[in-house]
Amino acid sequence: MKFNKKNSGNIILFSLLIILAAVLVIGIKKDSAEGLDNKDTSTQLSSVTNNKNTTNTDSNKTEKKNAAEKNNTKKTDRFEGLTLTNGDITVPVLCYHDVNPKQTNDMLMDPVKFKEQMQYLKDNKYTTLTMDELYGFLKEDKKIPEKSVVITFDDGYIGNYTYAMPILKELDLHATMFMISGMLNNELYVNEKQLKEMSDSDAFEIQSHTAMHEHLATLTEEKQLETMKTAKEKLESIIGKPIEYIAYPYGESNKNTRTAAKNAGYKLGFSLDGAMADKKDNNYNIDRLYVSNNYTMDQFIKKLTTAPRDPQ
Ligand SMILES: [Zn+2]
Repeated sequence: MKFNKKNSGNIILFSLLIILAAVLVIGIKKDSAEGLDNKDTSTQLSSVTNNKNTTNTDSNKTEKKNAAEKNNTKKTDRFEGLTLTNGDITVPVLCYHDVNPKQTNDMLMDPVKFKEQMQYLKDNKYTTLTMDELYGFLKEDKKIPEKSVVITFDDGYIGNYTYAMPILKELDLHATMFMISGMLNNELYVNEKQLKEMSDSDAFEIQSHTAMHEHLATLTEEKQLETMKTAKEKLESIIGKPIEYIAYPYGESNKNTRTAAKNAGYKLGFSLDGAMADKKDNNYNIDRLYVSNNYTMDQFIKKLTTAPRDPQ
């Protein structure tokens, strides 16, 4: 073929036709491939539906596994980015009772004052430990943030549910409520439904404060064991979680109390002697700090940061 002007025009036209044909062919192939994909997907869906009954158990297991992994991640992530230590530091374990605007005595903490104290902990980057985290640090050499604090409430007053819980939730803090199991459903105290709701939240965990708030040191070891066991079993049956920590009523204990607490299945027992908790504390005589409604903010901070290491 001679290369003249007419021929070159034909060549260009021919090339364009080939390109057009190629584009069409590729387009058709792509459509049919997508059609196949769709078909595969619908086959998979119908097979999933058909196998629904048999795969349900597996998917439940997977869901449970995922939830467990999520919980574990959450627990380890709690300390992420904080300076940790397993050294010989002290931990303030604060002891509150009721949080209630009816201020009739120094054990009834004003909710406004309580919020200020919690806000101080939050603003100053304190980590509020769970009982297991405190136990891990004191007795198993596990690490905790250098600025750790434990918030506890004794007795199980209704104000813990009504006033303290919303504040703790708002500030994303954690506390422990030591419940007198025999006072559940008394109008001044939380009821079983509220106890379960608190236990299911991140704001609260529930632990034991005996069955009837007895002066333990006046009882025989057998009677002490009985009230500790009764409370543990009752509370466990309501919240569906192990009760492994106890605060002694009035902070009172004797040698028999410590033996009874151990035999009843508790891991730690808490007193109320105005000192910081540390690794030297006996498992069944862990020091705590009482917080009075009469404290100014300065007094609160002073107690939190400079309370003695041992009872004076
Ligand atoms: Zn009490």
